Amino acid sequence: MQQIHPQPIPLVDLLAQYRSIKSEIDAAIEAVIAESAFVGTASNRFVRAFEAEFAAYAERPWVVACGNGTDSLEILLQAAGIGPGDEVLVPALSWIATSESVSSRGATPVFVDILPGEYTMDPLAAADRVTPKTKAMIPVHLYGNPAHMEELLALAERRHLFVIEDCAQAHGARYRGRQVGTFGHAASYSFFPGKNLGAWGDAGAMVTNDETLARRARMIAQHGQGERKHDHQIEGRNSRLDGLQAAILSVKLRHLRAWTEARRGLARRYQAQLHGFVEQMQVYPEGFESVFHLFVVELSDRDAVAAALAGEGISTGIQYPRPLPLLAAYADRGFRADDYPVADAVSRRVLSLPLYPELTAPQQDRVSASLRRARGAAVA
Ligand SMILES: *Cc1c(COP(=O)(O)O)cnc(C)c1O
Repeated sequence: MQQIHPQPIPLVDLLAQYRSIKSEIDAAIEAVIAESAFVGTASNRFVRAFEAEFAAYAERPWVVACGNGTDSLEILLQAAGIGPGDEVLVPALSWIATSESVSSRGATPVFVDILPGEYTMDPLAAADRVTPKTKAMIPVHLYGNPAHMEELLALAERRHLFVIEDCAQAHGARYRGRQVGTFGHAASYSFFPGKNLGAWGDAGAMVTNDETLARRARMIAQHGQGERKHDHQIEGRNSRLDGLQAAILSVKLRHLRAWTEARRGLARRYQAQLHGFVEQMQVYPEGFESVFHLFVVELSDRDAVAAALAGEGISTGIQYPRPLPLLAAYADRGFRADDYPVADAVSRRVLSLPLYPELTAPQQDRVSASLRRARGAAVA
């Protein structure tokens, strides 16, 4: 007898997204090719147009597009004058780019534990880690959930810290009525393909309302060149947004609000379907409007549940399996798990379920049914 294999359900389905906007994307790509506008030099109209559109979306006047989200963090740190001898507060749970960008400037990342259930930087723990060398902080709006900006900004003000919001997972998230990325001195965005607004390759942007900072960031990103060609004021680097990526991002940006609403609807369905079947679902305090880059649950038997779902063709993810300070990359600094108890516990229990705007209700029902079966009985 032949066994029937149901269609696999991926964690993210970029092909489904392409199919839904194929004609718009194809036309945009053709337009770039027709003008050979491939590289994001000052005259590239596709890149400049995307910057203007993203500035309107991000509710900030200055947007500097660049090669990827990691570059945007590094360039902002450089533009702010952060370097050797300086300490920068970063959350203990994030993608390594957050801390790597600090080290690559010659500065020292200082890891701060996270809040249980919200997974963002704990403001009280952050205050404990401040020293006279602390010059900046990089709160991350992890999984699309805003960090506690009011408390973090109060600390930053008291200690004169430069604040870069890492918005790589939080395009369009809002905190107490205002968009994330508008609270700090600057914000960093990634348009990696799987992010809520994703290019078809690497891409990123820096966002600020400080014109001087924006000009400096742009100069660094284009080999230290000033207003005129061949007028190199400093040694910079090469970090540009490609014309093709800019044109693709412009198309996708027009759909981002609808996609975010779709993510929110799916998240509400998961919350209803999985209530009582997981140890912890993400907590959203009043005024914290997540954009659900990921839908994360905590499970005491995470690996067994992931294996059961995989057996039914359902992909899941772990963001992230180890807190940053416990990665091999930081072994020489001798960090211990009990210095970051929340991040350590969370990294053993988190599981990301399939969530993307094109996920259908029947697909989602299959994910929830599979998870409920794997849990056997309700836990709460
Ligand atoms: C994706 C990501 C980055 C880095 O972005 P890239 O475009 O991949 O370089 C930085 N921080 C966080 C939290 C991310 O998720």
